[in-house]
This record gives sequence, C-alpha cells and structure tokens, in this order.
Amino acid sequence: MHRARLAWSPELLEYDFGPGHPMAPVRLDLTMRLIRALGLPELPALEFGDAEPASDDTLRTVHDADYLTAVKRASTALEPDPARGLGTEDDPLFLGMHDAAARQVGGSVSLAEAVWRGEISHGVNVAGGMHHARRGSAAGFCVYNDAAAAVRRLLDLGADRVAYIDLDAHHGDGVEAAFWEDPRVLTVSVHQDGRTLFPGTGYAADVGAGRAEGTAVNVSLPPRTDGAAWLRAIDAVVPAVVREHRPDAIVSQHGCDAHGNDPLAHLDVSVDAQRTAQQWVHALAHELAGGRWLALGGGGYAVVDVVPLVWASLVAEAAHAPLAAGMPLPADWRAVALEVSEMEPARTLGSAEPVPWRSWKDGWDPADPIDRAVQATRKSVFPLLGLDPHHD
Ligand SMILES: [Zn+2]
Ligand SMILES: [Zn+2]
Repeated sequence: MHRARLAWSPELLEYDFGPGHPMAPVRLDLTMRLIRALGLPELPALEFGDAEPASDDTLRTVHDADYLTAVKRASTALEPDPARGLGTEDDPLFLGMHDAAARQVGGSVSLAEAVWRGEISHGVNVAGGMHHARRGSAAGFCVYNDAAAAVRRLLDLGADRVAYIDLDAHHGDGVEAAFWEDPRVLTVSVHQDGRTLFPGTGYAADVGAGRAEGTAVNVSLPPRTDGAAWLRAIDAVVPAVVREHRPDAIVSQHGCDAHGNDPLAHLDVSVDAQRTAQQWVHALAHELAGGRWLALGGGGYAVVDVVPLVWASLVAEAAHAPLAAGMPLPADWRAVALEVSEMEPARTLGSAEPVPWRSWKDGWDPADPIDRAVQATRKSVFPLLGLDPHHD
C-alpha cells in the first residue's frame, strides 16, 4: 500500500534567526496550520514522523568535524565566526542553533532511510532543503545541509544512483558542491541567473568534474521568468537528464521563492506552476525510481500567500490526494494567517486554469532570452549524457 510520511516536530520552529530575518518560523507554522485545516492528517496514506536532531556521525557525512565544533561553540557562546559563515547578516547566531539545524537534517535523513527500507514510498520534510550549507561553512540561511545528508544516506544504504532536483529560485550550490565529483549523484538546479541573485553560481557550463562530468545540470533563468516559461524550461531539461541517470531514488527541493510575490528573488512563477512541477517530479519518481521520493522544502519568504499553499500541496501530492486547483482556502486558516502576519492571505489555491506552457518539442526561439538559457544548458550537458541537444 502507498504510504507517505511528513517529518515534523514543533521544535523545528526553533530554527529562528530572530526578528526581521526572512527565514522566520512563521513560514512553517502557517504551513502546518494549513495542512491541518485542510484535514490532510486524516488521509489514510499520510503518517507523521518525528524529526530528531541528527547525530554528529550523520552530520560528518557531509560536514567537516571542525565545522560541527564551531557551530556548537557559536550556538552557546554566540561569538561570531565569519570565516565559517556563522554570525553573519544571512546567518546570525542564536542559542540552540546546532540542535535546531541538526533537527532539520535528522528529519530528512530518517525519511531517506524509511524510503530506502520501503516503509514508505514518499517522504516530505518542509523544514528541510537547506541547500546552501557547505562542508565547512554556513551560507544563505543554511547551517547544515540536510539535502546532501539525505542523498549521502541513500548512497550509504546501497543506492547506486540518486537524482537531486532543486526548484528553489536560488542555485542549489551546496548540494551540487557535495557531489561535484561523484558520478552517482545527478544534481539538477533550475534557478534565477546568478548574475542577478545569490549565490552567484550555477551556470549552464557548470557540469561537474572528472568522472562526474555531466552529472551537474544548471538551468539559469533570467529575472521575471514566469510560470509557463519556467515549466517549459523544466520540461526541456529535467526529465531527459533524470531518465538518462536512471536513479534509484529522487530527492527534490521545493523552495517556493520563485513566486512573483517573493521578496528575495525576481522570478514570477505562480503557485499553479509550482504545483504542476511537484506533480512532474512525483511522476518521475514512479516512472524511474520505484516511487522512492524524498521531497524537501527550502526557500520561500512570501509567508501567507505562497509558502503554506505550495508546501501543503506538496504534502497532499505525496499522499496521493492532490488538492484541487483553485479551491477556496479554509476560512479558519485565513483568519489565523491574517492575525499572525497582518497580511491578507490568499483566498484560493491558485486558479483552476491550467498553466499555458508550451513544449520545447514544438520548437524554440533563438531570440528569446529564456529559450537561449535553456538551450545553453542542453548544449552543455546533453552531449555528455549521450543526449542530442537539438532533439527532444
Ligand atoms: Zn531560495
Ligand atoms: Zn506516489
């Protein structure tokens, strides 16, 4: 029987950089409230799993031992260590930072284990997706890289190949770096052009190194790319490279800061388009990976009209009970969201109209900057994988 598990602990809300920081716990709080208001916990295919802090051994699979020591010290002494990205504007220090960040990793890694053992087919950790953290430093609101740790655990348990798909507006640089030279892991990141957005990396020509050439894939899109064009770009690249990789499991990052209302990025990808992409990733997991799918959160700073909608949709999708496009959002949730945020929450879950995206198979326009960006990726990486960039 199909089972999906949502990793959750209220203590995940303790990952809190303090007032005024965009990565505020209210994002997760409003998401969990919407999940409950929609009745998702009653779905027979959905169970809740715990999220305990990952052990040092687990953290050391993707981080240096002296970085762990530095994070622990910074979490209690609150002394900045800017060389390791700790105590910076993006990653200010707070008491308990180590435990809070380790808990994100524990949630994702325990789901990866459950997926690999076949206890569940799909796992979701909306508190995960901390894709910028490096082996030895914090970056971009991320202290420990739960996504890399989950991929690593799948490999350690016996997966021959894993595909990581990153849909956040920002380049998934930390996960890419962790597997840059590892041919077993395909990392695919679809993001806003690094010339215009943090972390400033992730170009079409960046394809991995050595024996892993062709297993890093970057789709770098111009600012203001909308949902239809974003889906077209994903469809033109992601299924082809993931199919070629033949993964045993798929790990995906569903940061929702590509939305037009997001205060930090400059893409214009609707909730509807993001929900469509979730369905595509889900379908790929069943087509290619025996259904083994771990879906993570990530960025997303439009806390009342985007984040809860996209991630509640992700949970419902994983539970094989997708939410109806355009459905009205529960009035009791809207009232709480208004009270907590003092912002008017969305009234409906996107629109009932399908996103009018056009397939690459019908041709591309060399004069269109988005099409040029997509074709640059295809030209860089498709030949390395034995694919033809000029045909679907
Ligand atoms: Zn982001
Ligand atoms: Zn499924």
